[in-house]
Amino acid sequence: MFSIINPFNSAFLAEHQYFTDQQAEAKIAIAHNSFFKWRLNSVDERLNFIKNLKFSLKKNKKSLAEYCTNEMGKPIKQSIAEVEKCGLLCDFYLDNAGTFLKSYKITTDGSESYVTHEPLGVILGVMPWNFPYWQVFRFAIPAIIAGNTVVVKHASNVAGCGKMLEELFIDAGFPEGIYQNLLISGSQVEAVINNPLIKAVSLTGSEKAGASVASAAAKKIKKAVLELGGSNALIVCEDADLNDTIPIAVKARMQNTGQSCIAAKRFLVHNNIYNEFIEKFTSAVKELKSGNPMNEDTDIGPLARKDLAEDVEKQVNKSVAMGAKIVIGGKRNEAFYEPTVLTGVTKDMPVFKEEVFGPAVPVLSFNTFDEAIQLSNATGFGLGVSVFTGNINDIKQKIHLFEEGAVFINAMVKSDPALPFGGVKHSGFGRELAENGIKEFVNVKTVYIK
Ligand code: NDP
Repeated sequence: MFSIINPFNSAFLAEHQYFTDQQAEAKIAIAHNSFFKWRLNSVDERLNFIKNLKFSLKKNKKSLAEYCTNEMGKPIKQSIAEVEKCGLLCDFYLDNAGTFLKSYKITTDGSESYVTHEPLGVILGVMPWNFPYWQVFRFAIPAIIAGNTVVVKHASNVAGCGKMLEELFIDAGFPEGIYQNLLISGSQVEAVINNPLIKAVSLTGSEKAGASVASAAAKKIKKAVLELGGSNALIVCEDADLNDTIPIAVKARMQNTGQSCIAAKRFLVHNNIYNEFIEKFTSAVKELKSGNPMNEDTDIGPLARKDLAEDVEKQVNKSVAMGAKIVIGGKRNEAFYEPTVLTGVTKDMPVFKEEVFGPAVPVLSFNTFDEAIQLSNATGFGLGVSVFTGNINDIKQKIHLFEEGAVFINAMVKSDPALPFGGVKHSGFGRELAENGIKEFVNVKTVYIK
């Protein structure tokens, strides 16, 4: 048994019991049996269920959003936006999945050669708490449309959201076993991966969990997609329009109270505008309203768990002990951590070299763009980078020098159903979303006829 505690007020929300290994096996067997029927449906037939799912999402938007806010503290307007974004992902694949999964011919010396895309079977999703609906949709919807069935091990601290997701699929009329919630602990995941009925796994979460899941999958020669952390730089060039850049920079760091893998976690600002940037950015951060995440006007809620706020506190305090200066913020109260801006930061400090999963940001300066690229690349992560500039053409010549899965110019790094999403280095491998995402869990079958 474990309890879910509201991180805002420490109120008890619910108690849950993990499945036994035998219960988990029974669910996987159901998913396996359902796969043989589900795979026989055409893509259009599968998409009809996705249309129903969209209606269920819309109908349950308020209750889904409120549950998420209660369980992990996301400000309610952002929880609503997250549920709406799940609908946009459905729209994208409703419009495009048929084209992505179409067979195509290839000219060879045979009389006929072509490629088909066939599902693999039961896919395991190991999902995080920071976007408890969006992350699951991003994994499960394309996998299901491609003809797979899925079992989802959600993060324990959002076990209620995990249950609600399963209910949503039932409400939408999906046949039994296409989507199932697997209420298990992290320590039970390896046994699930070892189950011969599981064909592949997708994890979004920390490096530690990713390494453990990927090695378990590798031992059984199963495919893994890993979407791990990031420490994206946000680079502000001398010629950037600061009035445009500042509000985006605030959102890029502070959205979801800083708990996003693609958040801008290190700001690199040209020396000549450094002081002006710090002044304007800190005054914009001061405008953010912290408080009860259920209030419509709250921008900053608690972190999802008190231990996560303590982690941010340790990273900031250690950096300060090494010489960093706090411009604003720097204090923790239970699960709340103040929006924090740091200067005097060097590459060996935790706030630079580690992923800071909360509303704290170091601001460093640079003199040349090549120096900014070096600083941007100087972490173990490689998820994305944002560059703000008045000279897009010059920056475009340097895009290949970034060791990142994504480069966004004059915009924050964001996930968009139409764009491939994923990283390099310790940010993981494989891609979600777009055409790449739906093809991660298919057998690309080559057919050659002499
Ligand atoms: P975890 O990586 O521990 O949790 C993510 C998921 O992995 C959860 O479902 C968790 O289950 C599961 N998990 C944990 N350990 C294992 C394991 N050994 N084998 C299989 N599955 C496992 O994240 P935390 O909640 O501990 O957050 C810690 C840090 O991770 C954050 O501060 C942040 O840096 C990073 N993170 C990154 C995310 C991203 O979007 N890339 C999302 C969340 C966290 P359970 O909850 O039951 O432990």
